[in-house]
Amino acid sequence: MTPPDAAHPSAATDSAHAAHAAHAAHSAGPAHPAVAGHAVAAHAGAADPAGPAHAVAAADGAETAGGGALEGVTGGRPVSQVYWAEHAWLPGGAASSVRIDVADGRIAAVTPDVAAPVGAVRLAGLTLPGLANAHSHAFHRALRGRTQADRGTFWTWREQMYALAATLTPDSYYALARAVYAEMALAGITCVGEFHYLHHAPGGRPYADPNAMGAALIAAAADAGIRITLLDTCYLTGGIGRPLEGPQLRFGDGDAERWASRVTALAAQVHAGSDGGGRATRGDRAGFGGGGHALVGAALHSVRGVPPEQIGPIVRWAAASAAPLHTHLSEQPAENEACLAAYGVTPTRLLADAGALGPRTTVVHATHLTGEDIELIGSARAVTCACPTTERDLADGIGPIRTLFDAGSPLSLGSDSHAVIDLFEEARAVELDERLRTRERGHWGAAELLEATFAHSSLGWDDAGILAPGARADLVTLATDTVRTAGFAPGTAAETAVFAAGAADVRSVVVDGRVVVADGAHTTIDAGRALTDALRSAQ
Ligand SMILES: [Zn+2]
Repeated sequence: MTPPDAAHPSAATDSAHAAHAAHAAHSAGPAHPAVAGHAVAAHAGAADPAGPAHAVAAADGAETAGGGALEGVTGGRPVSQVYWAEHAWLPGGAASSVRIDVADGRIAAVTPDVAAPVGAVRLAGLTLPGLANAHSHAFHRALRGRTQADRGTFWTWREQMYALAATLTPDSYYALARAVYAEMALAGITCVGEFHYLHHAPGGRPYADPNAMGAALIAAAADAGIRITLLDTCYLTGGIGRPLEGPQLRFGDGDAERWASRVTALAAQVHAGSDGGGRATRGDRAGFGGGGHALVGAALHSVRGVPPEQIGPIVRWAAASAAPLHTHLSEQPAENEACLAAYGVTPTRLLADAGALGPRTTVVHATHLTGEDIELIGSARAVTCACPTTERDLADGIGPIRTLFDAGSPLSLGSDSHAVIDLFEEARAVELDERLRTRERGHWGAAELLEATFAHSSLGWDDAGILAPGARADLVTLATDTVRTAGFAPGTAAETAVFAAGAADVRSVVVDGRVVVADGAHTTIDAGRALTDALRSAQ
């Protein structure tokens, strides 16, 4: 995401949008540079009955997929289709009766206030841009419902997580991640940032392909129909001044230069693998990934996991690759105490001094910060990734998320440990946690929180997360007639999405123009069964 004072590309200036000017002014949402040159098509009433070549379903027919349109997301011809959304969340706020033309997997035109064209696919409900899950550890899904049984802390939970990490292989991790990513697709998530540190075989021995685990995750995302930014994580120490030991040995590359060599090879593989897919290429990001469904980014686990003298190579790799750089930051007071004792500075100051804070940086959690920390993060325009459902599950605390945002740090959201996979729940938790802390309501506007669910930029996809011409054709449609969302009104669309809706209300999902979820079901994966099977074998 970009700084919160940046403007959205302007929406059509018809009267329907004027009613929502308050939303737009309140949202102060991110700009989307890749599409900022386009205005939303304003040719209301000029619907073209011919439309793109592949309009296949009648307007009053199936809610989503037209016949023959259900393709896997990574292959096949680019998809063109005309959609007509009952309501849609556009850059200026909610609009109604919106025609969305999709050509070659991208949005070609957005036209509000028009009748459904003949042959268009009708999207009943509220259609949103694709949701970005900015922080995921896919294998943690296997801990859901199993680590809540006893008392304990973050640190006792971590022991259970390590026991699970000890068992996974590239094959079993592929099966688990494929099912987890299918669950994400069902929740409207079109892109995941996978913070990946389970690199090597037990004991730390590299696999024959040193990137076998990362490749398994990238394949899993492809098969689940979502995009992935593989945030390959450098993880060198088991705590400040302590070597990795036991299950942690699987995480380590020895030093940051060897980490960089391995990740360079992975990025080259991903780039080469994406060239033949008929997708738009990303020529400005040589070595960073490709034009397909996957990008490779960098992560340093935390100041607990990477010594200060090893941060430089990670920062340089990310800069040379124009890649995102993510890090856990101050999730627990114990991290701050250890960092202060060892280095005499806070983790945030340590990262700043190492050159690790900048607009391509995302700090995950940022729960226990000083005033100076907040100023450093905000002035660097680094993105905050809040993960409130995990933070509450692990008894981490409540971070100064609003203060960070006001200081200049854009907001993104992640389901992290996957105690819950529901970005609507993450969004409302940001506000509701603040209410509990302050005993006051209304710290965030619903539109601000809704925009945070679309925050693709911190994952390197500047051309997604917005319904505007030129953007990737991600269309997430919330049903507005369920027990949770009934009573929906366009004037309070963001409030319904953030404070009433949940993942279970996602009716259809289109990713890069391809239908991945139709009528509430994944089009290629029985997600419940896949999760059941994968979780059984992962225990
Ligand atoms: Zn995490």
